[in-house]
Amino acid sequence: MTGSRPKHAALTQFPVIENCLQIGGMPLTRLVQQIGQTPFYAYDREKITERIALLRKHLPEEIHLHYAMKANPMPAVVQHMAHLVDGIDVASVGEMRTALDTIMPANRVSFAGPGKKAYELSCAIAAGIVLNMESEQEMESIAEIGKDLNIRPNVAVRVNPNFELKSSGMKMGGGAQQFGVDSERVPEMLIQIGKLGLNFMGFHFFSGSQNLRHTSIQEAHEKTFQLGIQLAQNAPSPVKYLNIGGGFGIPYFPGERALDIAAIGGNLTRLLPEIKEKLPEAQIVIELGRYMVAEAGVYVCRVLERKQSRGQVFLVTDGGLHHHLAASGNFGQVIRKNFPVTIGNKVLSSEKETVSVVGPLCTPLDLLAAKMELPKTEINDLVVIMQSGAYGLSASPTAFLGHTKPIERLI
Ligand SMILES: *Cc1c(COP(=O)(O)O)cnc(C)c1O
Repeated sequence: MTGSRPKHAALTQFPVIENCLQIGGMPLTRLVQQIGQTPFYAYDREKITERIALLRKHLPEEIHLHYAMKANPMPAVVQHMAHLVDGIDVASVGEMRTALDTIMPANRVSFAGPGKKAYELSCAIAAGIVLNMESEQEMESIAEIGKDLNIRPNVAVRVNPNFELKSSGMKMGGGAQQFGVDSERVPEMLIQIGKLGLNFMGFHFFSGSQNLRHTSIQEAHEKTFQLGIQLAQNAPSPVKYLNIGGGFGIPYFPGERALDIAAIGGNLTRLLPEIKEKLPEAQIVIELGRYMVAEAGVYVCRVLERKQSRGQVFLVTDGGLHHHLAASGNFGQVIRKNFPVTIGNKVLSSEKETVSVVGPLCTPLDLLAAKMELPKTEINDLVVIMQSGAYGLSASPTAFLGHTKPIERLI
């Protein structure tokens, strides 16, 4: 028996044939046989390609797109992405190595994040990538290491702006922050950059993550450009790189709607003439993680046991928060909400029941879906968590309780 398609948009983004979800053009049941085990993450290559095409369609041509690879550092994903985007942003030397394994030229790779260690700075300077400096102390270390290596480091200043990105899921700019240099301290730092002989590239702004309000993002873009123009007055050389951040969100929960990229693109088109006039050498960069990969990924686990307890049904699975912390609600959610979930081999079944999906860990936090209406399951059915292509496996405590790690595939 099959019913109607589910309401949540996330549940309709992959085709369904004969009641079975199709990932990368293949029935999920076939993919499970091919992989040979559950749980796993599967990322749909074509969906990633389409997503970058959507961004290219709506954003002005002049804007460079960078992939913030911490969202999904799987080497195959980063390799695929390197053919689609203009640069890669890394957050560690480990990520830098993965990025440099791709065709991306080193000068299109940038490195952000507080607490960069001396050996990380040294590796990055030797590689010739751009360092987004998070503090004055980091600037001093970079200058010293550059001298030792006899290389002129490429640097940009990560600015903690004097405004906030409104309605972000996670704020990372404005007010007091561990990220970047407070904008009022930047002019003095720019003088030092000149004195230290660093190769000044420009500015980096990143104000927050998971924003679904285009008007907030547009306002942030406008203020970022104004601040960039103002700070450039003290720069030791013309600004060549202006990274205005990202923060584009995706809909996870009922009632959330996809971001209006066309509106953001229209606003950038309106803002570009002024920035081109005032900072004629500046390459404008938008860096995105989640938006590029999240909707292309699913997490799949299997029902091991159907457990009844005082009137409630628990689907005990071989997956859990140790693989997918975000779906358990413990990665930045203020109030726990269910990710979109389906039963991959019974997507359209009209027989439904309300269940909680749990994992094997000895904690009540190990909850992948709480009291959710899903197609009625049997043992071995496949639980699929959608919107799992970003901040999934790499953002999860895989060592907790010593279970095996899931497999990742790019299909
Ligand atoms: C995490 C991060 C990103 C990516 O954020 P998303 O919300 O995933 O797009 C971009 N830039 C910096 C500096 C980051 O730390």
